[in-house]
Formats: sequence, structure tokens, C-alpha cells
Amino acid sequence: MIDADDVGGVHVKYLYHCHRQLWLYLRGVRPEHMSSLVQFGEAVHETSYTRSTPIDLGAAKLDFVDGQHWVHEVKSSTRPTPADEAQGRHYCFRLEEIGIDAKGAILHYPKTRRTHRHPYTTDAARQAQTDIQDVLAIVAASVSPDRLARSACRGCSFTDYCWTE
Ligand code: SF4
Repeated sequence: MIDADDVGGVHVKYLYHCHRQLWLYLRGVRPEHMSSLVQFGEAVHETSYTRSTPIDLGAAKLDFVDGQHWVHEVKSSTRPTPADEAQGRHYCFRLEEIGIDAKGAILHYPKTRRTHRHPYTTDAARQAQTDIQDVLAIVAASVSPDRLARSACRGCSFTDYCWTE
């Protein structure tokens, strides 16, 4: 099992997408390599920001931080999601933990050439802590959370696991 310090961006992303996905991931189920969408995401990273160096904060691995302390994340999707915002907020929280006054997250969507800024406010900091506690609560569940509606599973790398009868 994990504790608060182990909670990373992937956990927070799954928290906002699907609790069952998070629960499976935390138990070592990793079908990610089978997902073409994940592979596409990796390709976007490799081709869009080749000069940036990812930053490894242990549990959290973010794309890069600029000189004004904004976290930059490159996304393969076309539209922003609450999961994207939560992930950016989590990275700001982790940076603050090591003494860097993060200003917020700038999310890049190369496919649609859009960027979205999410300042790291007091409320965002509070929510980042709540998100970590919510991840830990799901870890502690003894049975897997229910599936989402099938229509919400599109592109999820756990589809075979959840929907093969
Ligand atoms: S396939 Fe659907 S229910 Fe299963 S983990 Fe993915 S999103 Fe959740």
C-alpha cells in the first residue's frame, strides 16, 4: 500500500477519471502498453517539447517548470479535463513541499494548439491535499469500485479487463 508521500500525478489523474481505474492501478494491474492512446500520448511528448527535460520529484514526474515557476504539462487530448487540472495542481503542491513557490500549471494541447492556465491559489492547494486523501481512501477499499458507464470507458487501457465477460 502507499502513503501520502507516494501519491503521484497518475494517481490523481485516475482519481478524476475513474475510481476503479485507480484501484486497479494501485494493485499493480498495468495494461498501459496495450493502449494505442497511451502510445499516442508518448509520441506527442516526444515530438512537441523535445528541448524540455522532465522533472522527477519521486512520485511526481512533471514535464517542465519555467523560470516563473509555472508547471508545464503537454497533453495528448484535444480538450482540457478536470483530471488534467488536478494533475497540474498536484505537481504545484509537490513543488511547494520542496520549497518552490509554484505559480500554477499551464496545460498545453498541441493537437488543438491551445493552452490553459490554472493559477495555484489557496483553494487549489487545499484541493490538492484533499485529492491525496481521496486517493488513499480508494487504496484502502477492500473491493474494486463499480465500473463507469461503458460510454465513459472509451480509450481506457483497462477496457479489456473491465468489459470482457
Ligand atoms: S474500463 Fe471503464 S470502468 Fe474500467 S477502469 Fe477503465 S474507465 Fe474505469
